[in-house]
Amino acid sequence: MSLQEIRSAIAKAESDAGRTPGSVTLIAVSKQQPLERVEAVLDEGQRIFGENRVQEAAGKWPDFRTRYDGIELHIIGPLQSNKVRQAMELAQAIHSVDRPKLATTIARIAQEIGSCPELFIQVNTGEEDQKAGIAPTDTDAFVAECRALDLPIRGLMCIPPVEEEAALHFALLAKIAARNGLDGLSMGMSGDFEKAIALGATHVRVGSAIFGDRNPLR
Ligand SMILES: *Cc1c(COP(=O)(O)O)cnc(C)c1O
Repeated sequence: MSLQEIRSAIAKAESDAGRTPGSVTLIAVSKQQPLERVEAVLDEGQRIFGENRVQEAAGKWPDFRTRYDGIELHIIGPLQSNKVRQAMELAQAIHSVDRPKLATTIARIAQEIGSCPELFIQVNTGEEDQKAGIAPTDTDAFVAECRALDLPIRGLMCIPPVEEEAALHFALLAKIAARNGLDGLSMGMSGDFEKAIALGATHVRVGSAIFGDRNPLR
């Protein structure tokens, strides 16, 4: 699909769900994509991008920023403690706040540099051992902990287990967010963003549907 087709599909999903037009933010996930494809999407006017590795993001976005105005970068992948400062200097949002230690590190660096990206708490809705994130039952306490640290928590994020019905996970995430007074929901990828929008997604993270298959060797 082209960027325009994805935008139309998002608009249709918003309208089908009775949601305000433009209430869903499209994050174009550019990880492991050839630079020419990213540039083509920039030329089409897209300005919000997602990267899952800080190193990779730091390698391409400073240069794009010298050539395109208004780029907004979202870090969506697991964040090691030693990459936090770099991530905070590079990105406008971090979707993968997944452990107490990371929250305290972000809070300390935010104090030092006097700013903080918008944050999403990653919830491991499928309670998968191999996946990062706060367990659903621990999320209320973790949100409170982050608020006590004065962190700008925008909402919650999840990546549903591949073999399960994504809608169940989107609905669970929406429920946990609502009871914590959070309205940001980062959920939905190439295969299921329309479903996520029907269930309240405010941020969809779409990669391969926009850019094509990723090249893992880059
Ligand atoms: C890669 C990635 C995406 C995009 O996945 P697609 O299926 O290519 O749309 C979304 N979210 C996260 C966290 C990712 O790592």
